[in-house]
Amino acid sequence: MGSQPRLTLLFTRDEIEATVKKLAAEIRQDYHDKRPVLIGVLKGSFMLMADLIRLLDFPLEVEFVRLSSYGSRKSPGKIKLVHRLQSKIKDRHVLVIEDIIDTGLTTAFVLDYLSQKKPASLKLCTLTDKPARRKIPVNIDYRGLTAPNKFIVGYGIDWNERFRHLPDIYAMENEG
Ligand code: 5GP
Repeated sequence: MGSQPRLTLLFTRDEIEATVKKLAAEIRQDYHDKRPVLIGVLKGSFMLMADLIRLLDFPLEVEFVRLSSYGSRKSPGKIKLVHRLQSKIKDRHVLVIEDIIDTGLTTAFVLDYLSQKKPASLKLCTLTDKPARRKIPVNIDYRGLTAPNKFIVGYGIDWNERFRHLPDIYAMENEG
């Protein structure tokens, strides 16, 4: 029998709520008159997206893309799009919504894919930033929580599809 993962509370639901409010205020200021397209990177961003857009009381559109990455987290392999963008974003103001930026490889891939579609602007929002393992520099326009170099779960973020439903964010102490 494998050992059960041990979870240690890292960010409470109150801290997350305050962070989402802060992000929403910044995004509102920059986008309220731009009818932006918010593009969530599945699956981890769905909870942030749902909470964030309820705080944005101006016209906007919501899209999602989904990626798969072969290889393990410790040695990431090739990244592939498994759910492409369903609408045109040429000349639109686009804001990418991420759950985690770790090495930066996934985000760099998404930004490259989207920039080829010639949006009017392309910016990045992430709930959590894990700068310790960054391999590619990415410019984060709206940064939520800075996380330590630990494997995190909860608030949409999973481990083997587990723990997404948790309202708080935890560090998993014995990964795998
Ligand atoms: P990247 O290393 O490309 O910046 O992050 C790629 C993906 O690795 C994230 O979208 C997420 O799926 C996964 N990842 C990175 N760090 C963590 C973590 O702490 N917890 C979980 N659950 N996934 C992570």
